[in-house]
Amino acid sequence: MGISKGVKIDYKNGNWIVPENPEIGFITGDGIGTDVTPAAIKVINSAVWKAHGRKIIWNEILVGEKAETEKGSLLPDESVQKIKELRIVLKGPLTTPVGEGHRSLNVTMRQLFDLYQCVRPVKYFDGVPSPMKEPQLVDVVIFRENTEDVYSGIEWPALSDNAIEILNILKSKGFTVREDSGIGIKPVSKSASKRLIKAAIEYALKNNRKSLTIVHKGNIMKFTEGAFQQWGYDLLREKYADKVVFEEELAGVSVPAGKIVVKNRIADSMFQQLLLRPDEYDVIATTNLNGDYLSDAAAAQVGGIGIAPGANIGEGIAIFEATHGSAPKHAGTDKANPGSVILSGAMMLEFIGWTKAAELIIKSMEKTIQNKTVTYDFERLMTGAKLLKCSEFADEIIRNMD
Ligand code: NAD
Repeated sequence: MGISKGVKIDYKNGNWIVPENPEIGFITGDGIGTDVTPAAIKVINSAVWKAHGRKIIWNEILVGEKAETEKGSLLPDESVQKIKELRIVLKGPLTTPVGEGHRSLNVTMRQLFDLYQCVRPVKYFDGVPSPMKEPQLVDVVIFRENTEDVYSGIEWPALSDNAIEILNILKSKGFTVREDSGIGIKPVSKSASKRLIKAAIEYALKNNRKSLTIVHKGNIMKFTEGAFQQWGYDLLREKYADKVVFEEELAGVSVPAGKIVVKNRIADSMFQQLLLRPDEYDVIATTNLNGDYLSDAAAAQVGGIGIAPGANIGEGIAIFEATHGSAPKHAGTDKANPGSVILSGAMMLEFIGWTKAAELIIKSMEKTIQNKTVTYDFERLMTGAKLLKCSEFADEIIRNMD
């Protein structure tokens, strides 16, 4: 007999309390969300049952186009409430119009629930077509600050009253800015920088990783990007002095056993380093915009832009989501690769402590790709591969679990 009623996941004093039959939220998402999210849920259900003999009770949360059609709002209050109550959510992609219309729902949710860590593990899956000679050397986990920087949403169009007002303030302080400039504000705070870097070092320690690299553009933006690095160093010196060693203080001496090396990199150089010496990097902590670019670039190195997983994590709420968009031209065609939501689901299972199910998904997806039974995006890059639909790829992963 299956369990039909779920129990809500709880969060107390920094600890997650996960029942045997948790109720977990899901947001189908727009565009290809209707293809990839149900396929991922099927895979997750099978893995959870096979590895733990358990069931997740899924509870749909309406957000995006479906919410607008059914409830008249892209992010209805009842959905916000449901996310707060359920705490853990699996999410498909959501459409954002560029340059007009509503603000990104993804960004809105990150700020509304204070999901300050965007966590993107980037690792090579054997068999995935990659542009690199040795993609297997890439194995990084990027912690991107998720709530501030130029994503703060504080911006005004060129020639608007607010932009002119700001320009006048700047002029009074001796700065000359062209009159027809749009204005955006880049706040970077000590508290948000420190909590993000704390999450990254805690992850590195818990998972026996070798290094933590702080990536920033502090040579140009001293009081935002530069301060991010400085506050990170302050935190590590104050609270983790016995657990870390700073690369610049090593002076050729090898790393003491059990210590994590802290590295300091300017963002542009980091893009080169990740291409040329990927094995020297492990956990990375960076500001919002750098992290956005860096995580997609890293995912591209392993050929995994369509299958890269991600999570947005705060205090007591975590949303695991596809990192690609809603790819409207493929919507409803059962064609898209569900790998990103599937692996985000594996991250979610690992997060709630159901590691066996997470491992089963990863192993089985790797086998499916190695067997060259893949969706169109991989099939066109592989020789001798068999083209599968989105739902067929999910079914094949489930078959390969046995
Ligand atoms: P996109 O990722 O949706 O699509 C770009 C191209 O990548 C597609 O045309 C398709 O060829 C390919 N692609 C993407 N996902 C794929 C998959 N799972 N399988 C196979 N191929 C895939 O990026 P875009 O076109 O720039 O954005 C479309 C919409 O998605 C926009 O409204 C954007 O704002 C939104 N978006 C949402 C998220 C999110 O919800 N996290 C992330 C990025 C973009």
